[in-house]
Amino acid sequence: MPALVNAHTHLELCALKGKIPLEKGYRFWIKKLIKEREAAGTKVLSAGAKDGIKELIKSGCKVVGEISTLGITWEMLSDSGLSGVWFREFLGDNFDTKIKCNEKKGDIVMSLTAHAPHTLSPKLIVGLKNITQKNNLPFSIHLAESEDELEFLSTGKGRWADFLSERSIDFSSWGLPAETPVRYLERLGILDENTIAVHLIHAGKEDFEILLRHNAHICLCLRSNRNLHQKLPDLAGMLQAGIKPCLGTDSLAGVESLSMFDEMAYVSCAFPSLPPAEILAMATLNGAKALGVEDRFGSLSPGKYGSFVYMPVNVSSNQSLLEAIVNKI
Ligand SMILES: [Zn+2]
Repeated sequence: MPALVNAHTHLELCALKGKIPLEKGYRFWIKKLIKEREAAGTKVLSAGAKDGIKELIKSGCKVVGEISTLGITWEMLSDSGLSGVWFREFLGDNFDTKIKCNEKKGDIVMSLTAHAPHTLSPKLIVGLKNITQKNNLPFSIHLAESEDELEFLSTGKGRWADFLSERSIDFSSWGLPAETPVRYLERLGILDENTIAVHLIHAGKEDFEILLRHNAHICLCLRSNRNLHQKLPDLAGMLQAGIKPCLGTDSLAGVESLSMFDEMAYVSCAFPSLPPAEILAMATLNGAKALGVEDRFGSLSPGKYGSFVYMPVNVSSNQSLLEAIVNKI
């Protein structure tokens, strides 16, 4: 079978596996994550990321979308033999026209990502998107993930608004309230065929239609959503609308493994009526498309690279073969 595509992960957080309790909620998780990441230091985080790369390769992954906040995974990822995109992540308000993103090393291309619509000023989000667009590169953003984000963008008030005000961050020109996080990004002109919107826990039918209209890619990390938010996106509704989502694992600070087989198995368990072929496409071809490498990866077809996974299974029909793959039987 074709090698797997993990379209969204944070290798820099591998060293924090098991260090952050999940049961205390997302706000606690984020605060603790920032503390633990700082306490761990670059050396420990680098060692963890190297182990994470080994785990990806061992579990049949060939293409990855890596989100790097600290910048420590560029060298190791581009030397790893993996393919894909290394996204340098931004937060805040400081746009610098000198930000670069068109480097390529090994088979990894450098691009940019905005953390989320509520953690960057619209000016910075648009600035970053414009740089990636000029270079025809994928651009990624966490979208409609947390309740704080939803409340802030759809009302202009609430906990996140208070948090920004306490830090004297003026958001009066951000054009809030927007109806939904998806509509907010649409208004900023961020949604197009090079944008990957990650999570979409708080998104509905109209949002899906907007994303589809702009040909934006959707990446889902369902185990992470279950663990950190106790809520899953409306995957059935997305598929019904015609969206072809891809999958990522998110970080080991929030999930049990970086294995895309584990991710597929969870999707199959959470949405038992989904056809296994659809789930396999989410972990292969759809991810390759989102990361702009479908000319070489995502399926075993003439003209593409022969990157494949050998998986011994004992089945007698195509249907049971697909079931065996997505359920790790
Ligand atoms: Zn993420």
